[in-house]
Formats: sequence, C-alpha cells, structure tokens
Amino acid sequence: MSARLPFVGGNWKMNLDRNGAVALSRAVAQDARDLSEIEIAIYPAFVHLDAVNATLALAKSSVRIGAQDVYPAPDGAFTGEVSIAMLRDFGVSTVTVGHSERRHVIRESDELIREKTIAVLDAGMTCALCVGETLDQREANTTDAVNEAQLRSALTSVTLNDHASLVVAYEPVWAIGTGRTATPDDAQDAHAKIRAVLADVFDSSAAEAIRIIYGGSVKPDNAPDLFRQPDIDGGLIGGASLKPNDFLAICAAASDARRAEGVST
Ligand code: PEP
Repeated sequence: MSARLPFVGGNWKMNLDRNGAVALSRAVAQDARDLSEIEIAIYPAFVHLDAVNATLALAKSSVRIGAQDVYPAPDGAFTGEVSIAMLRDFGVSTVTVGHSERRHVIRESDELIREKTIAVLDAGMTCALCVGETLDQREANTTDAVNEAQLRSALTSVTLNDHASLVVAYEPVWAIGTGRTATPDDAQDAHAKIRAVLADVFDSSAAEAIRIIYGGSVKPDNAPDLFRQPDIDGGLIGGASLKPNDFLAICAAASDARRAEGVST
C-alpha cells in the first residue's frame, strides 16, 4: 500500500432505522479505537447523520462521517436536495460521488457528477469518487476505457490542493451487492490503469498520493488478498459494513496490509 494511508468507507445505503444507526456507529467507534494506521469513514443516510454525529462525538471517535450524496448548489430552490453547508452542520467531512446506484438507478449525468465532485473538493471535504464498468462493458473489454472516461469527465477543471482529499473508488458494477468480486489481479490491473490516468490528469506525484480503493462485495475473507495489491489502498464496503464484526475484520485487513509494508504513520 506504499505511503498512502489506507481508506475504508462503510456505505450504509438506504438501510437501518435511527436506533440501528446509533448502535452500528457506536460499535464501529469502539472497534476502530485500536486501528490508528488507517482512515475509516461511515456513510449513513442523511436522516441519521445527526444521531451518528452525536454518537461518534460522545465516543471521541476518529471515525469520519460521510454523506452518500450532496447537491452542488450552495442553497436555493432545489426541492429534496441537501447542500454542503447543511452536511457540515452534522460533522460530515467526506461525500461519495458517482456511486453506481446513482449513475445507473437514479440516472445521474456525468455533468452533475462533475459538479458534485468540484463542490465537495472546493469545500475542503474528501470526495470518494466512484467509477466502474457494467457487466456488458466488461464483456466488451471496455473496462479501462469506461474508467478513464468517467475519471476524465468528473475531474475536468478540478484543481487538487490536497491529494488526500480525492479518493477514487473502483467499483465494478457487476460486483456491487452481488457476492461476485474482481480477482485481486484484475482489480490491481484496473487500479494501476486508473493511477496512470490520474498521472495524466494531474501529475505523477498526485497520482502516487491519491488513494484508489476497491468496492464490490468485499468481505472479511477476500479483503486481505485485495488489500495486499500495491495499488489497492483500501475499500468501499456496502453490505459487510452493516455487520460490525465484518466491517472491523475488513478494516483490520487494511491495517495489516499497511503494517506488512512496514510503513508507520
Ligand atoms: C457499495 O455499495 O459501494 C458496495 C461496494 O457494496 P457491496 O460491498 O455490498 O458490494
């Protein structure tokens, strides 16, 4: 994992009631206490941000609070949407952008994804920008082209003041929530190509510093092999992030992979 601090995000999606969100955030805070050499973020639904923020604050936890979405305008007539400033009030410091469920189910455009990426980065928050191919695109051998197009589109006009503020999540759509995972070799190959695109979009030192994390049915049993790959800097975890023991095991695998390289923070 080189000098990049591993990043593990738990994407809770549209799951849990308020009590469940409090219980899960309390468990993650407790479990994360001994894992100082990685960055952990949890992404609850908007309506649970307040309760999760209070729970993490009470536990004096370093676990970061993330939002699953944001609207790029500062305020105004955008019914149903939530702004950066509103998120900040609830302790949010990171936002996922371009998740495949938003690209393919909610049908967000590349243009909107770019606007969101810029808004999150301009606000000084960490943008977890998701890219990845569908099964059809994979079978047509266009995985790298799809990743490159999504990256170039979202990162046009982006100036990175802090390389750590951009986290790219490579999430093959066919692997999300399906129990199918890219092999460590295939994932590593895609990550290396993504890093090459980042070097071209920014420069080679930015590309070396930006975390590229893998998402798509990461579980405690496949996490160690994935995280051992040189260009895989952690994971974005869906289903397994709802189970405290599984999420802890995945975070521990990221921490172990970093320690195995002998890098200390
Ligand atoms: C995700 O939602 O980003 C994800 C990777 O989900 P899962 O781990 O359930 O495949």
